[in-house]
Amino acid sequence: MKKCYIYTRVSTAAQIEGYSLDAQEESLKAYAEYRELEIVGNYCDAGKSGKNIKGRPAFRQMMTDIKSQKDDIAFVLVFKLSRFGRNAADILKSLQLLEDFGIDLVSVEEAIDSSTQGGRLTFAILSAVAEMERENITVQFMAGKMQKVLEGGWTGGAVPYGYKNVNHELVLVPSEAEVIRKTYELYQQENMSASAVAYELNKSNMVRITGKREQKPFTYEFVSRVLDNPFYCGRVYYNRRTNKKDRDGKTIKLDEDNIIMAEGKHEIIVSPEVWDSVHAKRTEIAGRYKKVDDGGHVHLLSGIVKCPICGKGLTGMISRTKNLKGDGYYKPIYYYKCRYNTRQNGKTCTFDQSLNQEIIDGLVMNILQKLQTYREFQDALQAALGDQGNIEKTEKRLQDLRKELREAELTKDRLGEKLDGLNPLGKDYDRKYEETSDKLDSIYDRIGDLEMDVISTKKKLEALKQKADSTVQIMTFMENLPLMYEEMSEEERKEMFQAFVDDIELFSEDRTDGKIIKSISFKFPMVFDGKPLAKNTKPEDMISFRLDCTDIDIELPCKGNIIMKKQADGSQKVIVRKGTYAAIKAYILEKHDVKVPTLYIAQIKRKYGLEIGKAYNKPEKNKNHVPKCTKEKELLIMEALKFYDLMEQDVEYREDAV
Ligand SMILES: [Zn+2]
Repeated sequence: MKKCYIYTRVSTAAQIEGYSLDAQEESLKAYAEYRELEIVGNYCDAGKSGKNIKGRPAFRQMMTDIKSQKDDIAFVLVFKLSRFGRNAADILKSLQLLEDFGIDLVSVEEAIDSSTQGGRLTFAILSAVAEMERENITVQFMAGKMQKVLEGGWTGGAVPYGYKNVNHELVLVPSEAEVIRKTYELYQQENMSASAVAYELNKSNMVRITGKREQKPFTYEFVSRVLDNPFYCGRVYYNRRTNKKDRDGKTIKLDEDNIIMAEGKHEIIVSPEVWDSVHAKRTEIAGRYKKVDDGGHVHLLSGIVKCPICGKGLTGMISRTKNLKGDGYYKPIYYYKCRYNTRQNGKTCTFDQSLNQEIIDGLVMNILQKLQTYREFQDALQAALGDQGNIEKTEKRLQDLRKELREAELTKDRLGEKLDGLNPLGKDYDRKYEETSDKLDSIYDRIGDLEMDVISTKKKLEALKQKADSTVQIMTFMENLPLMYEEMSEEERKEMFQAFVDDIELFSEDRTDGKIIKSISFKFPMVFDGKPLAKNTKPEDMISFRLDCTDIDIELPCKGNIIMKKQADGSQKVIVRKGTYAAIKAYILEKHDVKVPTLYIAQIKRKYGLEIGKAYNKPEKNKNHVPKCTKEKELLIMEALKFYDLMEQDVEYREDAV
């Protein structure tokens, strides 16, 4: 029976844990059995980057054992060529050494065997292909995960709350499991809302420790995640979620048929029956919530504006003022608020302001429109253009590297010929052989390094060229932005802000000059052929800078109930005008020189379903004569109500009596 070694490797880059090594080993063992080979050595490099041979101790050990001929093997089995070496030169070099000892290499997955005719050539070609394939290991990786899920194991990634990872098995954390049990109990049996559950948990003596060992309050999101995760009832899904987005930025829904469900091996915390019933309640509420959702308002800067106290992204929220009929015309007010200041999230942050979205969005848009005039912007673009000199330098460097690479290849060929030409019967044969192969070894290393250098320099050059192109594109874009903005939908505006604005810092204190925004960090993704590059572009693929807003004057578009008011010291302050009865009266008097009594305003508000204070409620029954607002004054009051944003702009006068 012929003997063989098997070699397996996973790289940290792919973050492949557990599965792939086993899978590689399984298929190698199966192959050995099929070919009737006896495995006398099992070498495995787990989690090494495999940049070169030096980084792979097991591989080196195998090579040493091969050289010592201690096991007299005939084959080395690997799963895939890409496991055997990083680049073509590397693979061929190792292959050469095997050949020197009469050992053949078999790559099981690709079904190539260097002992067969044509195998040698195939290896040469495939090892080059393997190099390219490294870039695209995702398919294999996903296949591995799929296999794992079918076996009921954990697919890796974030460990669900309630469990910990012990040798790739998930085991219960009793204190956390208790939180989960309590969450389901409160939600299902006590019929609480998710927010109420979070509130209860925070009140209890339970604590939430995150994976990073930070203590955090229980939040609405946390409770929702726990309630929606079928893992707790023993179901493991594959393909349930995706990060893929379609062209409109919406998450692509996965085909139901592609979702794979398996029974997990882990200990469950809630029964499938409980989970299903909770899931039904969640689905129903989600449906209900959708119906009351507002008509397409998009919180443009949600998550981008950071809380000046805790640094987390502020959340867009809506406040609906109740009205009498339940179908009233009060305009909802949108604002940004720190989620960690809310009661259900444990009030861990002290930032209690609700920032009017119209003001913040208006300020940011105003800055964006004037961006071209700011020095920071010009500097950033200039810096990007200034890379022109770098482009030339990099081009030269690439030329030099290529020349060096050609020379190294020639040296390699020459050494190879020299090695072949050595006379085995010559007196210095052993010494010369060793000397020459040592040199050959180092030239292979050198070639490998140079190849990597060429690749990275090429990438750098491309990035530099794109940067230069992009600056021109960004300029054009900024020039056209005000016009484009008008044409954009809310969704598109949000997408634009998300793309260009990294974060917005606010002042934590109220300032006498009325300034709210401290700085804005911009990032312009590179554009190529007029299209922005992939969303997850790296920092070096961005033109980014932070705009300090302390000293720039920002005009707020004067609209509706938001105005800039000059203070006694000459500074400007943002004022949100409140549509009080006095304000409405003053507005009408100033604009139309007409006096309207408070009673009329109350009548009109009531007629159109707007909430009114108790004092102006329906006239008392014993009063039989109450003056009625005339049509003329009703129109004026409506105008004022619209001005103060208390009434939607499109409400029309109705003939019916007040
Ligand atoms: Zn906060």
